[in-house]
Amino acid sequence: MSDQFDYDVVVIGGGPAGYPAAIRAGQNGLKVACVDAWQNRDGKGAFGGTCLNAGCIPSKALLESSELWHRAQHEFAVHGIQASGLSLDLAAMQKRRATIVRSMTGGIAALLKGAGVTAMFGRGKLLAGRVVEVTGQDGKVTQLRARHVVLASGSEPTALKFMPFDGQQIIDSWGALELDAVPKRLCVIGAGVIGLELGSVWRRLGSEVVVLEALESLLPAADAQLAAEAGKHFRKLGLDIRLGAKVSGAQPGKDGVTVRYTDAKGEQSVMADKVVVAVGRRPYTAGLLGEGSGVSIDAHGSIVVDEHCATGAENVWAVGDVVRGPMLAHKAKEEGVAVADRIAGKYAHVNYALVPAVIYTAPEIAWVGQTEAQVRAAGAACKIGVFPFAASGRARAMESSAGFVKLIADAASDEILGVHIIGPMAGELIAEAVLAMEFRGSAEDLQRTMHAHPTLSEALHEAALAADKRAIDNLNR
Ligand code: FAD
Ligand code: NAD
Repeated sequence: MSDQFDYDVVVIGGGPAGYPAAIRAGQNGLKVACVDAWQNRDGKGAFGGTCLNAGCIPSKALLESSELWHRAQHEFAVHGIQASGLSLDLAAMQKRRATIVRSMTGGIAALLKGAGVTAMFGRGKLLAGRVVEVTGQDGKVTQLRARHVVLASGSEPTALKFMPFDGQQIIDSWGALELDAVPKRLCVIGAGVIGLELGSVWRRLGSEVVVLEALESLLPAADAQLAAEAGKHFRKLGLDIRLGAKVSGAQPGKDGVTVRYTDAKGEQSVMADKVVVAVGRRPYTAGLLGEGSGVSIDAHGSIVVDEHCATGAENVWAVGDVVRGPMLAHKAKEEGVAVADRIAGKYAHVNYALVPAVIYTAPEIAWVGQTEAQVRAAGAACKIGVFPFAASGRARAMESSAGFVKLIADAASDEILGVHIIGPMAGELIAEAVLAMEFRGSAEDLQRTMHAHPTLSEALHEAALAADKRAIDNLNR
């Protein structure tokens, strides 16, 4: 590196996009700094971004704990376990969540150090000529001259104009993860991924949960058969999902918040002790770009990049939630790593057609590739294999036999076009489908692959067989 620069790479943001970029750049032998502005409630900095501090990890910790509580109450008896005198210790549950978060975020700091990355807590701003101005938590300002800059500043929750977050009654997903009492009445606005996951958590823990969704259908991005099955299970759990509900206002009061909305029947309202607004997230770029940075932002607030995550400003890249595409941690990570390899002159590729989606409800929901509707709209002739978990010995043994695996393959070439799973461990099972599709595998490839018995993965094997009406453990219709 010439004296002209302080670092080969300065990464702004230490979430799932930024920290992997910094680590891979370090592994590539480059001199790297990673600057992160995250501050936890205690004012302390932490790496890991939204995902580790206030998203993926804490939500999965609570989903796991609340599911155990739910099963202990409603499903142990069928196993012959009579558990009387069960009680909920929410403080202990929340302590477990916080401990996991603390240890995981601390782990990132150790990983950065291990890769030789200079980790800094502070706010980075890109100035002209790839100078990054860093304002430390103590207010001290330093300037870093970088050969390459990676922007990975992530996203923030979208607020509704007419009901801004107040941190008390009207809260965002981070607030909903840290409640210290189970609200009697919870209203969730938005039946997207956050609404369904966090709605499930608090419903299982005892809240009456009303979910208001503006669209007329649930999970429009999912395969319709999967979405319909999911809706049945959410309702069975007791989530009161109201579709076609256009929220128009909220009035906080002594007895709770009155949320007003309009649906097909006209003006409606619902009372809640807490309202979680989960209507999507938007790219976060506040204070990120100084005069002359050369970086553009589009109408959605995303940093404009090409297919290689290059911004158009020389040697300035952007990755993760702050750029186009699904706001998912694994997509962010792949982009961060790919950019670090490109900077080092190596080959890198992100396959945007195969970003798996997982919703960690019970049953779990996961998919990759095209839905049946997308395949049909594209005019491709396809064959479809469906295998219900009710026919899986392992799922029956687990008392988790709701749901199915649906595999869609091209009728002519047999290439797998999409896999859609609702059922136990769907988020784990989908990995096999992603791998098969990454290698452009066919239904026959999966059919000829031996799957251990009795495992849940046999359901994917059988769905592939069912696509050719050759399932063994289910009737072929
Ligand atoms: P972020 O994680 O937002 O990280 C950006 C970092 O940059 C932050 O630390 C921020 O403080 C920092 N930063 C911003 N501006 C600056 C600046 N100027 N200077 C320095 N630092 C700055 N995704 C999944 O794939 N699976 C899940 O199960 C999942 N669950 C989720 C649950 C919830 C409740 C939420 C809210 C999100 C969830 N997500 C999940 C989405 C996931 O969290 C994001 O896709 C992911 O965190 C994006 O990573 P990122 O690095 O782009 O951004
Ligand atoms: P989302 O886009 O998944 O869902 C938002 C929902 O709110 C949509 O269904 C939308 O129609 C609805 N909506 C929007 N405005 C509304 C209004 N005024 N009234 C009623 N409904 C309204 O967004 P999210 O659930 O907030 O999640 C944000 C991001 O975080 C997503 O991009 C998601 O990918 C990511 N995330 C992922 C996971 C996961 O991978 N398991 C978990 C949580 C969050």
